[in-house]
Amino acid sequence: MKKSALVLALGLLASSQTLSATESPSSYAWQQFQSLLTVTKEMGARVAGTKQENEMAQWMSKEMSAMGYEVKSLPFKYRAKNGKVESQNLVVDIKGSSPEIIVVGAHYDSTGEKAGSLGILDNGSGMVALMALAHELKGKKLPYSVRLIAFGAEENGLNGSKAYVNRSDNPLKNVVTMINLDTIIGGDKLYVHSPLTKPYNCNYVKSPKFESSSQIREALRSVSKDLYGKDAHLLHQPFSGYPEGETGSWSDHAPFACNGIKTAYLEATNFEINGKSGNDGYSQIADKEFWTCFDKETIGACDRKEEKYWGSIWHTKFDHPDYLLPRFSKRLQMQLDQNVNVLSKFVLTADKWIKE
Ligand SMILES: [Zn+2]
Repeated sequence: MKKSALVLALGLLASSQTLSATESPSSYAWQQFQSLLTVTKEMGARVAGTKQENEMAQWMSKEMSAMGYEVKSLPFKYRAKNGKVESQNLVVDIKGSSPEIIVVGAHYDSTGEKAGSLGILDNGSGMVALMALAHELKGKKLPYSVRLIAFGAEENGLNGSKAYVNRSDNPLKNVVTMINLDTIIGGDKLYVHSPLTKPYNCNYVKSPKFESSSQIREALRSVSKDLYGKDAHLLHQPFSGYPEGETGSWSDHAPFACNGIKTAYLEATNFEINGKSGNDGYSQIADKEFWTCFDKETIGACDRKEEKYWGSIWHTKFDHPDYLLPRFSKRLQMQLDQNVNVLSKFVLTADKWIKE
């Protein structure tokens, strides 16, 4: 075969593989996810307070600006083990008919770098959803205003979201709800949580007022049911340790719930798995490739003493494009599209859901 013919054949092979991996035409969200993977492979993990975390903020800011949005960077300092550290939150405001604001937030730092994580799901997936939502809402008539916030330094103590709510310029004025996106694809199922009815520890907030309403969770479930049918999406069965639909204070929704804001929290996991500490959602995937040995009968480890991986993607070597893409492209794309479609429809019809 001539070299030119070989090059052509390889080119065709490459493009047909791309097509068969995704099958349906690529959504904007999926394309943006591919861009994030390219950037991440060059940049490496983006640990809170590092140069890489800052570079990721720059990249995201550039992408949002290219869509025609004004991106505000809100720098903050926080105390870490190695002294005072700097990071920043990024804010994009999209004006709607009402001055009242729906916040949609996602952290952009990553952790688990020593284990080999590049944080493409935790929380590259949330970041991409923010960008896709910005793209989706561009030029649309919105009943409520929307504020997209990319939080820095979540993984080492929710530093970005705490800094945001504690700002002195009245950052929660007109904010009526906050939806947090943290690792919204990859796990077996898509969930939507609301805070625990038992108040979180809110001692980092100036005047704590805890809000545990499940109103936004129920609204997102209704939107999801309208779009994908009753079994499709956004579940939250009861599981031992937590009442149905409720979650803990370990992500960026918590500082908002502590300020009396109604919150909801999207994530992809699988509470049916009996993980290292029981059915707590820390094991996300019932697929033997993510376990030393997976037992289908008990939905858990074959041997709890020998198990090393526990079906856990976040903060592990599994949160890496080389591991996930060849195995899960279709699932990742479908989950990402569903999340973005549900969020977008919720925001576009928010007058139906938010008014009491
Ligand atoms: Zn996360």
